[in-house]
Amino acid sequence: MIKTSSISNLKIIMRKYNLYPKKKWGQNFLIDDNIIRKIIATAGISSDDYVVEIGPGLGALTQELAKVAKGVLSIDIDKNLKEPLYEILTPYDNCQLLFADILNIDIAQVLSDSFKLEKDISYRVCANIPYNITSPIIFNLLENSSHLKSATLMMQKEVATRILAKPNSKEYGLLTIMVAYHAKAELGLQVSKNCFYPKPEIDSTVINLIPYDEPVINVADEKLFKDFVKSAFQKRRKTILNISSDFFKMEKDIANNILDKAKIKPLDRPENLSIDDFANLVNAFTS
Ligand code: SAH
Repeated sequence: MIKTSSISNLKIIMRKYNLYPKKKWGQNFLIDDNIIRKIIATAGISSDDYVVEIGPGLGALTQELAKVAKGVLSIDIDKNLKEPLYEILTPYDNCQLLFADILNIDIAQVLSDSFKLEKDISYRVCANIPYNITSPIIFNLLENSSHLKSATLMMQKEVATRILAKPNSKEYGLLTIMVAYHAKAELGLQVSKNCFYPKPEIDSTVINLIPYDEPVINVADEKLFKDFVKSAFQKRRKTILNISSDFFKMEKDIANNILDKAKIKPLDRPENLSIDDFANLVNAFTS
């Protein structure tokens, strides 16, 4: 068996199949067994779990996922990885591969097709994802999360910091609120850039997202809530009074009264508002 989490084996495989790491697809391969073990532990996978891996690369994480999960579906965009991955994953008969763009597929559907399962099977996601599409991947997962038990994702540290940010900080913003609306976000572990080949310029962080079964934030109109939050953080230096009166097309004094009723200080900036404040605000303006 070829363990691709070692830099020497990785290079042997790459030479054998004439591969080179492709920047456009964010190919930075994990070469640290200890980190791989910790990622698997963070994901809390048990032997009856189906796991979807986004971007298996040359299978370093895949091999370990296959040892703990009931089934692993690994989805990569790079068809040149097909042959080497089949070789690397030969010992694991609970592993399926699919070559497609993760942003263009229905994950629950391809998982049930691959393993011939019921459509409503729940699954976990565990992956070192391509960093150039971190936000679209997260939005996709969370907006279609009815069967998603958890997503354990390695991403660039800066994005993880935004997801985990608290109000009144410069990292707090649209991404923080969008994620918090759908899921509980927890810090998993920090990962040094030395754990990858080729070595990226930035450090990484693993976070765990656990979608809520029922919404915990009470919003009357989800789309309006999201549109308002987006618009607010596009003007993060403006007061919430100006932002609200623009967005809802209302005179300032009327907007002021509504903010008062929602117990929001009109001169606060978007970063001072909690997710509950945003929900109360939008509900107050639309009731
Ligand atoms: N998980 C591997 C590789 C991570 S690199 C490891 O840790 O070693 C990111 C991987 O995502 C690459 O294999 C790349 O080909 C794949 N990828 C990039 N864009 C993708 C997309 N849109 N859909 C699916 N996979 C993608």
